[in-house]
Formats: sequence, C-alpha cells, structure tokens
Amino acid sequence: MPKTKPKMTKNILERELLDHLQKKYKIEGSIYLGGGWIKPVVDMLEKLEKLPWFEHIELDQIKEKFGSLRVYWSKLPDSPDLSEAQSRAIFSLIEEAEKITDKTCYFCGKPGTRNTIKYFVCVRCEACTLSQQ
Ligand SMILES: [Zn+2]
Repeated sequence: MPKTKPKMTKNILERELLDHLQKKYKIEGSIYLGGGWIKPVVDMLEKLEKLPWFEHIELDQIKEKFGSLRVYWSKLPDSPDLSEAQSRAIFSLIEEAEKITDKTCYFCGKPGTRNTIKYFVCVRCEACTLSQQ
C-alpha cells in the first residue's frame, strides 16, 4: 500500500474555507478542522444561524480534541439571557454535529471510526488509517 501524502493545494483550500467561516460566523477564537469535518460543521453552522437567538451568542472556538468535535460558545455580554429551551436548541444542534463527526473520517469525510495511531486519537476511514501507519 503506497503512502499518500496530503496534497498541499487541498490544505490551502481547506484553510481558506475555514478562514471564510471564521469571518462569516464571527468566530472569536480559532476554527481548526480536518477537511472531512468541514461539511458537517458547515451544516451545523447553517442550522444555528437560523435560530432567531443566534445573534445573541458568540462562537468562541471550533476544533477537534481527542478525536471529538468541540464547539465552544457563549452568550454575548449585552444580550438578554437565553431561555432553557433556546440553550437546549443550540446544544442539540452541536450534539447532532458531534454524532456525525464521531462516524466521519476527519481527513476525507468518508465513514470512519475513532481509533488511536501513534498516541493520536482520531476518527478515520480505512484508507486514511492505512496511509498513516
Ligand atoms: Zn479518510
């Protein structure tokens, strides 16, 4: 099995897309994701954006940690408090994206499973697992 190296142009496009998302959704901190997780995260952002109270929150950070998607958000300081139902709606959209990314290859977006390679926990498909060993 030949080792496949990630293509440089692909990485640049992914970074540009993430930069675009960071500006569009005014993400305060960083957004760092492998190419395979961009789509599920974009789907989540598009659903979050439709919530009328989305304007009262701020996304602080979106990243992968220990093989799981992490989305950090907070209420904007001058905005009214969110009701329990409003907060729950946000959490459930994030949870939905977490469940999808739990089964989606971080690198290419194909179906994958969480596994550990060289002490690095990540969700990968079979091909990406083989190319990294
Ligand atoms: Zn893959």
